[in-house]
Formats: sequence, structure tokens, C-alpha cells
Amino acid sequence: MEATLTILGIAQDGGVPHAGCSCARCMSAHADPSLRRHPVACGVHGGDGSLHLIEASRSLPDQMRLWAEALGAEGVARPDSVSLTHIHLGHIDGLGQFGKEVMGCSEMPLFASESVLDELSGRSVMGPFSAATVQAMERFSPSEGCGFEMEFVPVPHRDEHADTHAVVIRGPNRSVLFLPDHDDWDQTLHRHGAVSIRQWLTDLEVDIALLDGSFWDASELPGGTCPRYLTLP
Ligand SMILES: [Zn+2]
Ligand SMILES: [Zn+2]
Repeated sequence: MEATLTILGIAQDGGVPHAGCSCARCMSAHADPSLRRHPVACGVHGGDGSLHLIEASRSLPDQMRLWAEALGAEGVARPDSVSLTHIHLGHIDGLGQFGKEVMGCSEMPLFASESVLDELSGRSVMGPFSAATVQAMERFSPSEGCGFEMEFVPVPHRDEHADTHAVVIRGPNRSVLFLPDHDDWDQTLHRHGAVSIRQWLTDLEVDIALLDGSFWDASELPGGTCPRYLTLP
């Protein structure tokens, strides 16, 4: 069986509706639950049936059901590993749900960069996890026999407490770039010595790119109004 990637959320850290926001989009989502959007995350179902979550958002319960539904399974999809791109709120605020108060996990492999794991260990959220340090640009399998590899690609993104990575998921036939957050293309391309987005994606040998859609314009930033979306080019 081949590996399958499921997109579990497409919104910015706050999700839709966004706390503190009364814009038309958020108000519509309050009125109509079908317009709600989970913070960004994706799940990879390995060829051996193992489940690998990338990002731990506050929408974890809904995302675990969404993931099972997409795979045609009953119940919810409980991950066998978790990977984190960086330490901003929307990517980590579901970590606590793996602990005693909710899922009661132990020794759950948590893949992240050294600086992300260092920062998390100071925040008392590592109890349910077994830390697994990922080296940038080195391929690894999140579990033996899962049938795909992952590769963390460094990207510049306001790295206040720890660094940020995109993740390339490499299956037997196709590869996907998961880039939920970066600051801007100039910095990202410069970081990797690429002159265009297409060249960078070619260098990374990816077939599909899931990209940070960025803010629509700079006026969205001061009040932190509307969430941004991932786009599928
Ligand atoms: Zn971020
Ligand atoms: Zn809004």
C-alpha cells in the first residue's frame, strides 16, 4: 500500500473564526460551522498503516476524526508520531492533548529541530513524548517500514524562540512540500540559493507544493485580523 497525505487544516495559527476578530469571514464561520477552518496540519498514512501527524493544533480532536474519515476508517486516527515545523502557537497548542489529561500517551516520537525541542523542554510539555532531533536536509523515516521519508528544509520565519522548517514528504512515487509558514519568498529563495520558486521546487525534487498563502496585504497585520490560507498551485 502506498503512503497517503491528508490535509487536516489550512488556516493560520488562530483558525477561523479567529479569536478577537469580527470580520465578515469570521462572523460567517460563527453562524455556519461548515465555514470553520482548522489551523494548518497534515497527516501521512504510511504503507504499513502507521499514522504520522505534522503539527499539533488546538483542533486535534476534529482533525483526528477528519483524518480517519478521509482514510475511510471508523473512529479517529491516533497518530504514531508527531512532527513540528516550528514553535508558533497554532503549530504546538495541541501538544498538551497527548498528555495525561486527555490521551494519556507516553513515548510518542516527536520529531523536530534541536532548537524547537530545546525550547519545548523548557515549557513542560514533553511528558508524553520521546524527543527525536531532526537534522536539516537529512531524510529520515518517522517509523520503520512506513514506506516514506521526511526531510526538514530550513526557512526564515521570525525565529524568536526556535527555528522553522518546511517538510518534504517523499513517497515511493511522488514527493510533497509542506511549507505552512515562512516570512517571504525573497528570504527563503536566498537561503537556498535559488532564483525562482520553480527552481527551488525543482531543486527539492517535489511534485506537489502546499504553500503558505501569506497575508493578502500588509494592512492585515497590525490588528492581526484575517487568517491566511494555504494554496495548492
Ligand atoms: Zn509561524
Ligand atoms: Zn476574521
